[in-house]
Amino acid sequence: MKLQARKPFDQSTIPNDLCPIATEYSVLKTGDWRAERPIVDRDKCVKCANCWLYCPTQCIKEKPAWFEANLIICKGCGICAQECPHHAITMIEELED
Ligand code: SF4
Ligand code: SF4
Repeated sequence: MKLQARKPFDQSTIPNDLCPIATEYSVLKTGDWRAERPIVDRDKCVKCANCWLYCPTQCIKEKPAWFEANLIICKGCGICAQECPHHAITMIEELED
């Protein structure tokens, strides 16, 4: 049998905090700097999941009869509203507290 030229890479040497964006997204709270939020018209939503498929932050959650965004993570990009084939999502301006 032929020996490997190099030892296989030891994944245990990767530090846990190398990529905090992917491992601890809650630290960033992208919803904190959102300028607009998506509002779902529950009567129009047919649960096709297009919004879930296209959302870049994967923050769309399934409810019993509709889909809606987790506003802690949603960054307000509006892609879900653009991609909803039933025009069930409207982007509204965030207001100051
Ligand atoms: S894309 Fe529109 S209709 Fe489809 S699940 Fe999302 S909100 Fe509902
Ligand atoms: S506005 Fe952007 S980040 Fe928020 S739910 Fe829609 S696609 Fe996702």
